[in-house]
Amino acid sequence: MADIEIQLLVLDVDGVLTDGGLYVDDKGKPSKKFNVKDGLGIKLAQRFGIQVAILTGKTSHVVQHRANELGIEHVIQGSKNKGGDINALCETTGIPIRLTAMVGDDLPDLPAFAVAGYKIAVGDAVDEVKHAASFITTKPGGHGAVREAIEHLLKAQGKWDAALTVFTNQG
Ligand SMILES: [Mg+2]
Repeated sequence: MADIEIQLLVLDVDGVLTDGGLYVDDKGKPSKKFNVKDGLGIKLAQRFGIQVAILTGKTSHVVQHRANELGIEHVIQGSKNKGGDINALCETTGIPIRLTAMVGDDLPDLPAFAVAGYKIAVGDAVDEVKHAASFITTKPGGHGAVREAIEHLLKAQGKWDAALTVFTNQG
């Protein structure tokens, strides 16, 4: 079960918020496909007291654009050391690392897993990441894994029913 107090959720992008596919147009401009259910999950997490941050090894405008759309304030792109950078996110937000969860899919996420309080692997993560995880989603990256991770955390915090009433009370 997740630490009930998780206050910061750090998301990798490729293979977590996407299925790992990299679209490149004929001008060489990268593009990515995000999942709308993940997006709603992120809004719910924020609304119910979990800050969300992005930590990715690549750099692209589409990631910043998606972050802006979802009100994700803390974005680190071009990370060469996710262990050091997740600590930097904790310093910026003032949230201790033990109250921080990381969602990852591949080997560059392991240094962040080594320090994060709670580690979540997407369903199609590589074996090494799955072995290091506290929780593995059933859904693969880009297909609702982040939504599932958020639902897992909000349920652990006893906030999921309240999250549902946001929708069921809309008459
Ligand atoms: Mg990845």
